[in-house]
Amino acid sequence: MTETQSNRTADLETTNTRRGASPGNTTKIEWTDKTWNTCTGCQPISPGCANCYASALAERFRGVPNHHFTNGFDFELREHRLEDPLQWRKPSMVFVGSMTDLFYDQVPDDHLAKVFETMARASHHTFQILTKRADRMVDWVGKHVDIVPNNVWVGVTVENQDYVSRIEKLVEIPAKVRFVSFEPLLSEVVVPDYLMEQIQWAIVGGETGHRARRMEEAWAIGLRDQCKRNGVPFFFKHMGMFNADGERVG
Ligand code: SF4
Repeated sequence: MTETQSNRTADLETTNTRRGASPGNTTKIEWTDKTWNTCTGCQPISPGCANCYASALAERFRGVPNHHFTNGFDFELREHRLEDPLQWRKPSMVFVGSMTDLFYDQVPDDHLAKVFETMARASHHTFQILTKRADRMVDWVGKHVDIVPNNVWVGVTVENQDYVSRIEKLVEIPAKVRFVSFEPLLSEVVVPDYLMEQIQWAIVGGETGHRARRMEEAWAIGLRDQCKRNGVPFFFKHMGMFNADGERVG
């Protein structure tokens, strides 16, 4: 990486305006403290899923007797986890469903209701829900939740321009914090200002893993500038497996 390129990437990092990892994290995900999985398993729905880390992790243990993932990434309810956040005393950022998509169609409505009930009760935590199923999230929340608690952030993944429509759905939800994860970022993405200004946080990152697809630095800079223009806090995660020259580094 040349000095100029290094400066540009550093500039992206120093523009981070929300939190990164905090001490005592129990997850490697940079923008949260803990993960909470009351169910696991999912199926791909769009190009961002092609190298799903959760599926790869779970499938490694398929068939291993007595292992948590003996059924791989097949969908499973894990209702014994529903009250876990009530036992965690330290206020934390909690990513809901790191091993699933909470609005995957196999997740029953009544299970979602139980998850929302726990989040309302565990008001000392901040819960982050991230989905690629924006339609179901909007539909379900509209029918079942009177007021989204202030400690519940709702978000969608937008991996390329084709899925900006998920933001159109997201902004229908009356939540205190609506966020967008542009990762793995697979193309330039231009978000209309009238949508961007209704977002309270944006995360950008490249893909990791040996099959990682390349993110161009210019795409990340473009999103950073759109965020800046609209006053949206921006968190740059990393370039993934490529440097700013487009060379593979991992
Ligand atoms: S929606 Fe998320 S959990 Fe489901 S397959 Fe895609 S990346 Fe994996």
